[in-house]
Amino acid sequence: MTKKILVLPGDGIGPEIIAAAINVLKKLQSDFGLNVEMESALVGGAAYDAHGKPLPEATLKLAKEADAVLLGAVGSPKYESLDIAVRPEKGLLGLRAELSLFSNLRPAFLYPQLIASSTLKPDVVSGLDIMIVRELTGGIYFGEPRGIRRLENGERQGFNTLVYAESEIRRIGRSAFDTAMKRNKQLCSVDKANVLECTELWREVMIELSKDYPEVVLSHMYVDNAAMQLVRAPRQFDVMVTTNMFGDILSDTAAMLTGSIGMLPSASLDAEGKGMYEPIHGSAPDIAGKNRANPLATLLSVAMMLRYTLNEAELANRLEHAVNAVLNQGLRTVDIASEGATVVGTSQMGEAVVTALETVS
Ligand code: NAD
Repeated sequence: MTKKILVLPGDGIGPEIIAAAINVLKKLQSDFGLNVEMESALVGGAAYDAHGKPLPEATLKLAKEADAVLLGAVGSPKYESLDIAVRPEKGLLGLRAELSLFSNLRPAFLYPQLIASSTLKPDVVSGLDIMIVRELTGGIYFGEPRGIRRLENGERQGFNTLVYAESEIRRIGRSAFDTAMKRNKQLCSVDKANVLECTELWREVMIELSKDYPEVVLSHMYVDNAAMQLVRAPRQFDVMVTTNMFGDILSDTAAMLTGSIGMLPSASLDAEGKGMYEPIHGSAPDIAGKNRANPLATLLSVAMMLRYTLNEAELANRLEHAVNAVLNQGLRTVDIASEGATVVGTSQMGEAVVTALETVS
């Protein structure tokens, strides 16, 4: 059956990196039997300019109808003075909430060719391959009550609520255990169960779930230790699962172990495997329109889309091998270039991957 992909280029470098992704998808359609339909729509600042809101109804409708959404990036300093309700980032948050994308998969993979980009010693990071599963639609970022109130003594008090229902923990836990089953079957659940009752429940539910996954080795770690271990001995981790806020912080820490923001994809999935796929970087306004952006994070996001929503694991492998092949050829965009590398622009890098798709398997 033909699957539908909604393409949302967004702002800044978004249109450039998405153009490279569309070329890859077209190649997979024409030469490798990928059966998809693609449609494009506006989101973020581009949608605000055209319709006065970052997530127009027409875009949301198309997103709901699609099997997968491929997003470039949103945001620009141009919109920073806008009311928070219509800022570009609201488009992204709105899509995550409206599509119930509760499971955020953030791989941190170090390509051996780019080991010099990491700030850590090669013997600490070589072979790094971690998947962080972050809960995305609950926890303290969404918990009620929240706000800033005036106390009786006149001073102001800020407050937020960390809250997780058992069902929310269970569904992100399942997503993490399923992910671990597809990898090395090691799952580390990160919490702060010694201080926060909410994450005491988190730990209990993870232990209950582990009975359904006897092959997966479940371990637990407090978040402060997990932060230390990620920079001390990151290769000990295979899959990590954690709450929204802990995952926000730990996934960016893990990303930086690889040293290159332009290489890292992400997936946000609902309970049925529908997903939104996007690079982890932002819209990079400083290099927008200059053919300098690295498109590989976006192309690796397409590979995740092939694997997790389109059930095309072979094509996902082919695309990942094509990215590896262009790195082996010595091609680099400026963000990942070291001395002696052949520096190419966004479009050349994209074309090189399209060509490499023919030669890899
Ligand atoms: P950013 O990720 O856009 O850029 C940080 C630095 O990394 C910049 O120097 C940029 O040039 C570089 N960079 C980022 N992606 C790159 C790529 N593919 N190739 C080469 N270099 C790349 O973060 P920022 O500067 O903090 O934010 C810029 C805008 O993006 C802001 O409006 C912010 O709100 C938005 N933002 C959006 C998302 C998203 O859409 N998911 C995520 C983060 C930030």
